[in-house]
Amino acid sequence: MTTTIGIVGGGQLARMLALAGIPLGLRFVILDPAPDAGAAVASEHICQAYDDLVALNELAERCDVITYEFENIPASAMAHLAAKVPVHPAPEALAISRDRLTEKNLFRELGIELPPYFTVDSRADLEAAVAKTGLPAVLKTRTLGYDGKGQFVLRAHANLDTAWKTLGSVPLILEGFVPFDREISIVAARSIGGEICYWLISENSHQGGILRLARSQPDDPFTRQAQGYVKRILERLQYVGVMALELFCVGDRLLANEMAPRVHNSGHWTIEGAETSQFENHVRAVAGLPLGSTASVGHAAMVNFIGAAPIPSEVLELTDVHLHDYGKTPRAGRKVGHATVHGVDAVRFEAQLARLRVLADAVAC
Ligand code: AMP
Repeated sequence: MTTTIGIVGGGQLARMLALAGIPLGLRFVILDPAPDAGAAVASEHICQAYDDLVALNELAERCDVITYEFENIPASAMAHLAAKVPVHPAPEALAISRDRLTEKNLFRELGIELPPYFTVDSRADLEAAVAKTGLPAVLKTRTLGYDGKGQFVLRAHANLDTAWKTLGSVPLILEGFVPFDREISIVAARSIGGEICYWLISENSHQGGILRLARSQPDDPFTRQAQGYVKRILERLQYVGVMALELFCVGDRLLANEMAPRVHNSGHWTIEGAETSQFENHVRAVAGLPLGSTASVGHAAMVNFIGAAPIPSEVLELTDVHLHDYGKTPRAGRKVGHATVHGVDAVRFEAQLARLRVLADAVAC
């Protein structure tokens, strides 16, 4: 019998999930209010709001299992679905990760090192928190932040008023600023039976809070520690599916930044750079199938196309480069596609990556 997977959200992550699952004989239904949802090319599309009860009922009826591609889904919608059909990862993971406070409390409970953090619900709280963290510090909204949105780096006391005016209408946390050497992430998958697998660490470069470049790291010194951190989270949540944990490396310390209870942009290189991609293993996990090998198949790096994508023929002219166009209308700051470079020859790989980055930077906005 064909398994049908429902995905709440129909953007590029849902699109790549469906593209990975179709060869396995899986079918997909997305729920997304956007008529031009990118995943609709590879799935059936229920084009309604995320809190539309009739649409949620229809999704539950048409699918054997439900998953999701983003965190900011109304909790009531997830509860409604979970009462009718299995939801993986469990809504608890979603609820924890959508609030930076509950997420950080979980890290602390599990003994995962992280920057100091304090809740800020008033101007007086902000003063008190800054007195503890010192400056610089990072003020963040507890919910609805992504790609560096909803954040303010406080560098001097004079910034506090502006930061408070900009963000103070919602619950906040203040974090100590981490003078990190590198940002890395670990992407891992856990099956229904509790089997866990990890891809190589990804080293990530951001600009303006948006991921620009992710490179697989065959011998990252933090591999074991990062695997240990994410394992604790996966097991504590009895998690099913792919999770990403973003981390700061500072000296010999590894600090957790945030987790994503879903496939993640820093794992896109696994499509070409690993035996089984994060997308395929996510759909395998939620469908109750065995996980595939996450072994790497050479050097791999992913370059995001931000705001606009280079001309496809210029990208495809490069050897060992794979283009992923999300079919989205170009707009400043929007991820409209990515390309992956991979290969076994390090010199050739670096040369192609450099050329790809020039093409991406030339049109980024
Ligand atoms: P986030 O939305 O929390 O992932 O933050 C987006 C980016 O802001 C991160 O990838 C870092 O580059 C930077 N950032 C966030 N929190 C901190 C921090 N506490 N210290 C230094 N940089 C940070």
